[in-house]
Amino acid sequence: EATAAAPHVVLLSSPGMGHVAPVAELARRLHDAHGFTATVLTYASSDSAAQRAFLSSLPPAIAAATLPPVHLGDLPAGAAIETLLSVEAERSVPTITSFLSDLKSTTNLVAFVADLFGAATLRAARDAGGVPGFLFFPSNLLMLSLMLHLPRLDAGDDLAAAGEFRHLPDPVRLPGCVPVPGADILQPLQDRSSDAYRWMVRHGERYRDAPAGILVNTFDAAEPATAAALRCPEPWRPPVYPIGPVIRQHHPAAAGGEDATGCIGWLDAQPEGSVLFVSFGSGGALSLAQTRELARGLELAGHRFLWVVRAPTDGGAAAGGDNPGESYYDGSRSKAGDPLGYLPVGFVERTKGLGHVVPSWAPQTRVLAHRATAAMLTHCGWNSVLEAVAAGVPMVAWPLYAEQRQNAVMLCEETMVALRPKVGDANGGLVLAEDVAEVVREVMEGEKGEAARAKVRELKEAARKGVEPGGASYETLAKVVSEWKGAAGY
Ligand code: UDP
Repeated sequence: EATAAAPHVVLLSSPGMGHVAPVAELARRLHDAHGFTATVLTYASSDSAAQRAFLSSLPPAIAAATLPPVHLGDLPAGAAIETLLSVEAERSVPTITSFLSDLKSTTNLVAFVADLFGAATLRAARDAGGVPGFLFFPSNLLMLSLMLHLPRLDAGDDLAAAGEFRHLPDPVRLPGCVPVPGADILQPLQDRSSDAYRWMVRHGERYRDAPAGILVNTFDAAEPATAAALRCPEPWRPPVYPIGPVIRQHHPAAAGGEDATGCIGWLDAQPEGSVLFVSFGSGGALSLAQTRELARGLELAGHRFLWVVRAPTDGGAAAGGDNPGESYYDGSRSKAGDPLGYLPVGFVERTKGLGHVVPSWAPQTRVLAHRATAAMLTHCGWNSVLEAVAAGVPMVAWPLYAEQRQNAVMLCEETMVALRPKVGDANGGLVLAEDVAEVVREVMEGEKGEAARAKVRELKEAARKGVEPGGASYETLAKVVSEWKGAAGY
């Protein structure tokens, strides 16, 4: 048949839409730009209606397959997510091996790509008869550098003396990277006695020798010094290939159904470059007290905003009724079902002309691309950062978890495309309303905001050119692809 002639690649995604989406986009790029057919392989634990709908919306040349469930019942209750994802990957190696062996006899399988928690599964590519096994790293080069150097840092005297990263007297310095204060280092590394920490060190060890190469969802202009350092071959690690940004595209056919919360309609009615988009990724949520400060701050700042509101992290307690903050919340909405019910009483009415609040979800890439959107307040998840950069939108950095704090350091101190609010140490890390207002005004109308906007527009241009033929990311992926094809006899 016609597709039998095309080279085939299998891409394994860790559970969660935040992992599946960029892996699927990489499959799409390999198809669109390089003539591949692909299988996106997912774990049974991540199977959901939303994920199935997303995967079935991919072009027919990109198939989806789900691995059979693996037994995880022996793990302790409350095991960290890093532990669950890592153990699921380890235990799936035999089924991945036979899956790849089967595909080898029915397709022109030329490569196997696993993502960040899947380094252990690259063994399957070797065991299935020797196709190259690559890693796809969906974060940035700073984060990859940390992973590659983690085994050394973990064994080093500095960390032994300090006990934990946050107690290190000096920032962590990685080749070509902005110095990162220990307290801003990747969240699961903040407790060295945890299983999650041990797993991350083990992944770091595997990154150093398991993959034939590491594809990274970033681009040289975003991290020039780090890219220069990592593009130098080193005997102790695989070659590193920045190939991004690989980000979700909006397809006109799907666009109509995606404005259920009225975001685009509302933006259409706003002046050009007037709106701050506020979003904390697919799962980020704030405490009740922080939600309240953010609301007051947005009101104080006086700029237009579009806010994707989540139920607060400590929302369960507030619903109890004897919470001292209870009277503050808008009792007219059911709290359990509606995140907007946690906003200050009268907030929605008072900010009617100014703001639009939507519960839980917005069509983010469309919002960012809208002419009315001027800036984004973001949790600094790497996909969100890439999407904001691709839209030329400067950011306010509001990191929550994972590697978001180190991303924020990079964006604010090195890349200079984001501003950071003052965080009150005296308030247990709370950002006060006055400080929210100040940083919002600065990004929307201040000099620093203007400088960040100019810088992010440069990066937008570099990102766009980079993924076109002749651009750094395009040519880097093309080189990898031609090695895959060459090794398979194309
Ligand atoms: N996203 C979205 N609408 C929302 C929140 C998130 O479309 O209301 C998308 C966003 O465009 C991005 C992804 O979900 O592609 C979030 O990924 P990111 O790496 O930023 O953060 P994570 O969700 O992994 O914390």
